Amino acid sequence: MMTGASAGMPVPDRLRAAVGADGIVTDPERLAGLSHDVAGPAGALPLCVVAPETLPALQRAVAAATESGLAIVPRGGGMSYTGGYAPSAEGSVLFDMSRLSAVAEIDTANRHAIVEAGCTWASLHDALRSTGFRPPSFGPLSGGASTVGGAVSHNAMFFGSGSAGSIAGSVLGLEVVLSDGRLLHTGVLRPEAVDALPHGPDPTGLFVGDCGAFGVKARIALRLAPVAGGEAFLSTAFDDPLAMLDAQTALAGRPGLGECFSFDRQAHRNILDRRIGFREKLGAVSGVARGTGGLARAARLPAEGLGFLERADYSLHLSVDGDDARHAAARAEALRAELAQRGGADLPDTIPRVTRARPFGPITALLGPRGENWLPVHGALGLARAAGCMAALQDRFQTVAGDMAEAGVTCTVLTVLAPRCVLVEPQFFWPDRLSPFHLAHATPEQVRLYRETPENPRARALVFELRNAAADILQAHGAAHMQIGRYYPLLSRLTPAQADIHRRIRAALDPDGRMNPGVLEG
Ligand SMILES: Cc1cc2nc3c(=O)[nH]c(=O)nc-3n(C[C@H](O)[C@H](O)[C@H](O)COP(=O)(O)OP(=O)(O)OC[C@H]3O[C@@H](n4cnc5c(N)ncnc54)[C@H](O)[C@@H]3O)c2cc1C
Repeated sequence: MMTGASAGMPVPDRLRAAVGADGIVTDPERLAGLSHDVAGPAGALPLCVVAPETLPALQRAVAAATESGLAIVPRGGGMSYTGGYAPSAEGSVLFDMSRLSAVAEIDTANRHAIVEAGCTWASLHDALRSTGFRPPSFGPLSGGASTVGGAVSHNAMFFGSGSAGSIAGSVLGLEVVLSDGRLLHTGVLRPEAVDALPHGPDPTGLFVGDCGAFGVKARIALRLAPVAGGEAFLSTAFDDPLAMLDAQTALAGRPGLGECFSFDRQAHRNILDRRIGFREKLGAVSGVARGTGGLARAARLPAEGLGFLERADYSLHLSVDGDDARHAAARAEALRAELAQRGGADLPDTIPRVTRARPFGPITALLGPRGENWLPVHGALGLARAAGCMAALQDRFQTVAGDMAEAGVTCTVLTVLAPRCVLVEPQFFWPDRLSPFHLAHATPEQVRLYRETPENPRARALVFELRNAAADILQAHGAAHMQIGRYYPLLSRLTPAQADIHRRIRAALDPDGRMNPGVLEG
């Protein structure tokens, strides 16, 4: 429940001076939009949002907030859904990283890039385009708007994750502003230098997945690897979701697997119904393809568009990398044969092909196909545990199928494969009013089309109940969560020794408890 916030509290002069007049927002409407995530509003509006433009300004602003007794809440692209940047209590400052967004260094000879934490994956992708290099795990699906700092703070995964896993394996070092304003270098990063390896014990991992609880990431060194010489794609239809999940998990760790993700019947319906979304990507890619013969051949898009999804109940989509096109095609063919043995039937490969061709477009998925609200919940499961968890989720949703249909709630379950785990993500859709978050982040066309949608408290209550039920089921099957934020429990899942060490580390880094209070608790 949002309270009257920090209304009436003055913004400290030192904080204003640190970021300059154009680096501070105090307008309540903008504060509401920037502190509200897709799952709901902040517990209290921040006193202000600051957007430092330089590293010294960030350090001065963090120190000023701490000395003024204010909480520091970092915000990247705002694309998360577990309250990580939604302050829990009054007296906080939201640190908007959007003006610290440069690609600072690309060093292909030494196989690293250094970015400011507010750099989006789209910007990094563009900057690396002509180099022939990229990070092995190269961003989440939200990378058109989400930042490298946000992904590292969540240990996100998607592009490249079939072989490279989550972003953790691509992070070489960090520069982190601690709550007193000091700058901590980790991993290979040192002042004015980049080491070949971390020199001695390396705390980088502490800050990966910390949801901003340990400090504000200012700069990040990422590993670069050569982009594969060839890529191939395949899509396979299945009749049964558990057979598909078995087939998907059996592919874990296969060489060259880039992305490996699945859709269900409801997801197919959503793609086909969506006025704004994948069809636009497809249009953009085929538009480019029509323009040039080479790309047209490379894109190889079927004339029927996405109509094949109407024939498939469940579908698995793979991108496969190889030394050259023939190598990638041979790898893909071996995987196709294996999936066929497990009951998979060939589909056109449009979905993985277009997803790779245009990885980081505008974000249209913040609303459902007809402007519905959207809320995901996820868990990363051990490969052998995924099928049991999926069956339990399906059973749970089945018991409330009547209520869901009556309230207009739909659910789809996305799965994404990494070498040692599979991400299982139920996503709920329901007709409801647009929130301040949607008004700030949905596309202008979505806002125009759907801004008059009325409140739907009944459907919303059902969705939040189902989200909690799904989180319980995922946790009962041993799921780990990537964006713990203010939603998923942490301390209660640790052993007493782990919880004690966690608290001591947090207190050592942030003795006054100023850094994003409320995350990594529970
Ligand atoms: C449409 C959509 C698709 C998505 N797809 C994926 C996907 O494919 N894979 C996936 O893993 N997730 C996905 N997500 C979830 C989310 O977008 C990712 O976790 C993303 O990495 C969040 O980055 P962000 O910049 O938006 O961070 P924010 O949402 O702004 O912040 C996330 C957390 O990190 C902290 N933080 C942000 N920047 C910093 C910083 N510089 N220093 C310290 N802490 C910081 C914040 O305090 C907060 O706790 C998706 C979300 C959406 C809406």
